Amino acid sequence: MKTTTEELYQLFTQHPIISTDTRKIAPGSLFFALKGDKFDANTFAQQAIKAGAAYAVIDNKDYALSEQFLLVDDVLTALQNLARYHRGQLTIPVIGLTGTNGKTTTKELINAVLSQKFKTLATQGNLNNHIGVPLTILTIDRTHEMAVIEMGANHQKEIALLCTIARPTHGLITNVGKAHLEGFGGVEGVKKGKGELYDYLAQADDAVAFVNSDDKVLVEMQQARTLKNVIYYGKNSSPDNLVSGKLLDNSPLLTLKWHDKTSSSHNVQSQLTGSYNLDNILAAICIGRLFGLDSDEINQGIEGYQPKNNRSQIMKTATNILICDFYNANPSSMFVAIENMDKLQAARKVMILGDMFEMGAESAVEHTLVIQKALGAQVDERIFIGKDFSSQQTEVDNTNLIHTTFYLTAEDAMIGLKQNPISNATVLIKGSRGMALERLVELF
Ligand code: ATP
Ligand code: MG
Repeated sequence: MKTTTEELYQLFTQHPIISTDTRKIAPGSLFFALKGDKFDANTFAQQAIKAGAAYAVIDNKDYALSEQFLLVDDVLTALQNLARYHRGQLTIPVIGLTGTNGKTTTKELINAVLSQKFKTLATQGNLNNHIGVPLTILTIDRTHEMAVIEMGANHQKEIALLCTIARPTHGLITNVGKAHLEGFGGVEGVKKGKGELYDYLAQADDAVAFVNSDDKVLVEMQQARTLKNVIYYGKNSSPDNLVSGKLLDNSPLLTLKWHDKTSSSHNVQSQLTGSYNLDNILAAICIGRLFGLDSDEINQGIEGYQPKNNRSQIMKTATNILICDFYNANPSSMFVAIENMDKLQAARKVMILGDMFEMGAESAVEHTLVIQKALGAQVDERIFIGKDFSSQQTEVDNTNLIHTTFYLTAEDAMIGLKQNPISNATVLIKGSRGMALERLVELF
């Protein structure tokens, strides 16, 4: 006999904690035996029960040893269906976010703002995929007044699926750019894939989309879908914006000024660096405003958000200021990070850029474009790390390569930096996760 979603939900109401990892079983939890690339968690179900799980959800009847083992057709689908069912019982606003860059940062900022007034639930870290979203939804309880859910995707139909689980009442696409080009099939593919959030919102009469009015691509995308309720924010002073803002200082922390349709302007000092974060901050202010927070609550939320996640994070060492952005990289976020360094006011500026992964057929050309962009920026020194950057070195004019070094690996770069240490500089360190450029930090 297979266990239905309704039956699982009944058990979930008594055992509202989900476990998926036998090394971290919460006592009395529901264990979902999810398949991994290299393992079949059905084989761990018994261990989960021994470790204290109340029930184990499995999809192989050979492992159903007692009534504590609940057989379903497919464990992942059962988890998603349970989350969908749970979401159906909730009447709170759910803000869904997707986009190429800045989802986690914007999600944290929105949560920092909204939690000044409401009991919120937000995605932990980067748990934004087909497993993370259902797990996040299943942590919403009756005490939560709203939820902020990050939705990530690297191929078509993924956001559409996540929307059927999270059922956002409010949505935001941070931007559409060049990332996961392999899986999405180019930039047009990214646009379509991220646009699935607008598609979902367009179906409901009362759903609200927050749109950055500076971003032509997003404005076109929402106009193409006739979304019913659109709230704009932006760096322009359009009267259509609910919130408009402007950067006052970026050296290297951001200070900004914002106002809405009715209030006078407010200055806010953020703990984030990187001018591109102005868009993320304005999104959070706009959402705070729509949900009725006053300006003090909003400003406290923004000022209090201190990134600790290697995204646009400042670290002061004895002799340098590091801009730690080594969590990830793609052409779009590289470009804005380089533009930020170009404009940054600092005595000495160094950029250390590592390879961008998952670029598929576009890889060579995108690495060349980033090198060219970096060569055109006002900085004192540039260091490129990785085989993709190194192999494009010959594509750029040699005479431009002054104060520029290429290293094939991070290990080589570490040797080079030990021999020629950098001091008294503001240093951007950015590369794809697989480059693990955090290894360089000890050299500053
Ligand atoms: P992931 O796809 O890994 O979940 P994400 O969309 O959640 O990424 P963040 O983790 O918030 O994005 O930020 C990653 C990096 O993207 C930042 O460190 C920064 O370099 C860049 N970034 C953040 N916001 C923006 C933005 N609005 N526009 C362009 N780049 C941005
Ligand atoms: Mg993220």
